[in-house]
Amino acid sequence: MRIVVTGAAGLVGSHLAARLVGDGHHVLAVDSMTTGQPRNVDWLRGMPEVTWIEQDIAQPLEIEGGVDAVFNMACPASPVDFRPKALEIMRTCSEGVRRLLEFALEHEAIFLQASTSECYGDPEVNPQPESYRGNVSTIGVRSVYDEGKRFAEALTMAYHRERGVRTRIARIFNTYGPRMRLDDGRVLPNFLCQTLKGEPLTVYGEGRQTRSFCYVDDLVDGLVRLALESDFVEPVNLGNPDEVTIRQVAEEVIELTGSGSKIDYRPLPEDDPKLRQPDITRAREILGWSPTVDRRTGFLRTIEDFRQVLAMHPTDG
Ligand code: UDP
Repeated sequence: MRIVVTGAAGLVGSHLAARLVGDGHHVLAVDSMTTGQPRNVDWLRGMPEVTWIEQDIAQPLEIEGGVDAVFNMACPASPVDFRPKALEIMRTCSEGVRRLLEFALEHEAIFLQASTSECYGDPEVNPQPESYRGNVSTIGVRSVYDEGKRFAEALTMAYHRERGVRTRIARIFNTYGPRMRLDDGRVLPNFLCQTLKGEPLTVYGEGRQTRSFCYVDDLVDGLVRLALESDFVEPVNLGNPDEVTIRQVAEEVIELTGSGSKIDYRPLPEDDPKLRQPDITRAREILGWSPTVDRRTGFLRTIEDFRQVLAMHPTDG
């Protein structure tokens, strides 16, 4: 197949591109490089099965020849980007998604929209099934991303219902793995850079808030099953249900890196969700999917990647 992957220089996009190439597909890799990583692009550019296209998805995508599927993974996704890139995020989730849906319609391609657990906001239900409609502030600092992605889901369903596009929606929960940006601002990159440099780990609030961390290869497998091996149109949660407090993550990182770092408690960011755990019953039943990489194994692989990158670029992070 010829498959477009947008956000191909990001964590999920670059691993997805590699998986699709490994499965024998040709990948048209698109990224605007606003938050994508040059080291992920260098690696992609070197592959003969990849065509590299540097552009924003809010601009028209001009690709010659047929396209069988589009995976839209493009959007700044770290909470530290929500304030400085607010308008860009809203444009990406509206005009960007609209253009890609038109593109999928024109090419009669499958279209997968990367949605998010942020659709559930600060959830009052735990774990969160797809039927839960969420608790989202429409005006808070996170709203550009949360409401942007909710709008993107609505637009995706509208193109399915009114134009017959073969759409899929993946609600992705916290994902991690090698090739994360050192200065990404999210919890694991922060903790890993801090501990590897012997600095204190910045735990926000009391660290009692929870998240559920999914290793990137597991997530990518779920995305491929959903887009290419199913015809399920409604949203599907993809994440690892192994819920953990942020304080426990800090303790595990300190233990696994063997560092003597202490914990430094900082104020909790505005609207920070207190709980997050995917109910993956639907993914299990429809895709036969569940994560296989436990946190310890995934953390060790990610630590190794961060060690190597920091050894080459000691001032980064
Ligand atoms: N967090 C933290 N220290 C950090 C970065 C994040 O304690 O240096 C917390 C953050 O407040 C949140 C959780 O870790 O409760 C996950 O944050 P992240 O930015 O990774 O993603 P989110 O799940 O909030 O989108």
